[in-house]
Amino acid sequence: MAPDGQTLAPNVYDAEPIPAAARAEIDRMLSSGDLFRYTAPADAPVALLEQEFAELLGARYALAVSSCSAALFLSLKALDLPKGAKVLIPAFTFAAVPSSVVHAECEPVLVEVGENYRVDMDDFAAKLPQAQAVMISHMRGHTSDMDAIMELCDAAGIPVIEDAAHSLGTVWNGRNIGTVGKVGCFSFQSYKLVNAGEGGIMITDDPEIAARAIIMSGAYETNWKKHPGLTNSCAHWQNKLPLYNLRMQNLSAAVIRPQLPLVAERVAKGRAGHDRVAEQLNLSAFLEVPEALGPEERAPDSIQFNLVGGWTDQSALDFQAAAKARGVSVQVFGLSEGNARAFWNWQFLGETPDLPRTRAMLMRACDVRLPTRLTEAELDYIAAAIVDAAAEVRG
Ligand SMILES: *Cc1c(COP(=O)(O)O)cnc(C)c1O
Repeated sequence: MAPDGQTLAPNVYDAEPIPAAARAEIDRMLSSGDLFRYTAPADAPVALLEQEFAELLGARYALAVSSCSAALFLSLKALDLPKGAKVLIPAFTFAAVPSSVVHAECEPVLVEVGENYRVDMDDFAAKLPQAQAVMISHMRGHTSDMDAIMELCDAAGIPVIEDAAHSLGTVWNGRNIGTVGKVGCFSFQSYKLVNAGEGGIMITDDPEIAARAIIMSGAYETNWKKHPGLTNSCAHWQNKLPLYNLRMQNLSAAVIRPQLPLVAERVAKGRAGHDRVAEQLNLSAFLEVPEALGPEERAPDSIQFNLVGGWTDQSALDFQAAAKARGVSVQVFGLSEGNARAFWNWQFLGETPDLPRTRAMLMRACDVRLPTRLTEAELDYIAAAIVDAAAEVRG
């Protein structure tokens, strides 16, 4: 609270402190210099993280790596796709996703995304026959119709990788997101639910995919023996696959492990905070928070909403400025210069396709961070600032 009793605009960019338990472990590592995951004969912090994460999500294998982008790249490599294979990705995602496809020497095929931020199933079905793999990005935690996607892909024998970078804790039809497809990838970058600065992890039940990814992540010589349960598969692939050296180091694992028990609470707080703000925004005639699909239980740490009812690009920019004047940063995905989530900015792809549905959505879709640590008063401040800014411009 400010001295005059008014709540100040909350800072939504600061992180939460790392649990104190991480300190003792980091101190121990700094004293011993034991930072490399493969130095200790067993129970290295990275190996323990993999075990704990696999258990938390209910997957057989987990491989911790340097980022979610690295996990997405390794997932594609582990599928052993031919060079130039087409990989379907949603056109609304972070630039790291098409980048991982390019990195794996495959070709991304962008699929239209609707006003509700979810994959357009008609466009998906139309483009699927040319694809050899599918990478579904649960962008900002919004889950596309995974039942329909899995049904189509299973029938066609096409593997699905889930980019769950920003979806840890989301549940689809009672299943943890990241366990629905063949591989699930998560991020520990600072803006995600678990913060290690950088880091990623992939999970799978498939021993061949796990073994191949482990070797390529940099388990040189017989270091794969420190990944339990994969002896036959790893022995087969040793020295037959390139080593991309995308390993996680022990310090990152020490920062992540004490946050895993906090995930459930962060998810509950994030959901309550999101829904509290959504309810207030939906009272405005100019704003709309799209409904999640029925089977999705979300784990949001931000809110997305659409400007509805006759906005122009200029009035949307005025709205951004009016919110900013109230201390709240609203990003309209398609209107912020060079935005990494607007597909037309992915110039590294060469010519980007014309995707009118996704483009129209991005020009009116707004993004506001709602870190799970915010109080109800802070959430209400943000909601009021957004509603008032819209009223000021359109009222
Ligand atoms: C953050 C993010 C990524 C990239 O994660 P890194 O760990 O930074 O590589 C990929 N996809 C989505 C949807 C993300 O939000």
